[in-house]
Amino acid sequence: MAGSPKVGVLALQGDVREHAALLAGLGAEVVLVRRPEELATVSGLVIPGGESSVIDKLSRIFGLQEPIREAIAAGMPVLGTCAGLIMLADAVVDAIDGQESFGGLDVVVRRNAFGRQVESFEAELDVPELGTGSVKAAFIRGPVVESVGEAASVLAALPDGRVVAVEQGGLLGLSFHPEITGESRFHARFLDRVAARAA
Ligand code: GLN
Repeated sequence: MAGSPKVGVLALQGDVREHAALLAGLGAEVVLVRRPEELATVSGLVIPGGESSVIDKLSRIFGLQEPIREAIAAGMPVLGTCAGLIMLADAVVDAIDGQESFGGLDVVVRRNAFGRQVESFEAELDVPELGTGSVKAAFIRGPVVESVGEAASVLAALPDGRVVAVEQGGLLGLSFHPEITGESRFHARFLDRVAARAA
């Protein structure tokens, strides 16, 4: 994609490389974002899975919290997976003391809602917005979306009704990890948002 806008992967902690590789495979020019100067060069941002309390702390230490909040408020598309969804949520239940999010998504999420690492699982999800063909989703100590505000909409839920994918304008939040099951449609949707905004 010659001349296409650059996209960033927040590279403070977590599975940064998997996202960067997937985006590059879709033809995107990828920047690893650790400083405000790097954030300023990108037109969209992926926040990876990892540990949200660590990503939160490091984002403040690296002076990225405010710039990222401003970019979200200005409409920059952001894809957050797992810990990244927690970082995008306006409210977080079962956060550690003093933990903050960037916010932007009008949802309440509960951290570690699916239990411990050993209770990780995979599920096939229907995501009508992505067309036919179910999504193979890997859940690794992921959050669940406990409530969805008026501004946000549900993209996917488990068969028991628990919400695991939400969208609000250019913000996309997933409880699971598409980047480790070879599912690229969410990243493609994110890149479409970035391209549409640049056009
Ligand atoms: N439990 C982690 C957190 O609270 C998220 C797990 C993940 O991103 N795979 O941030």
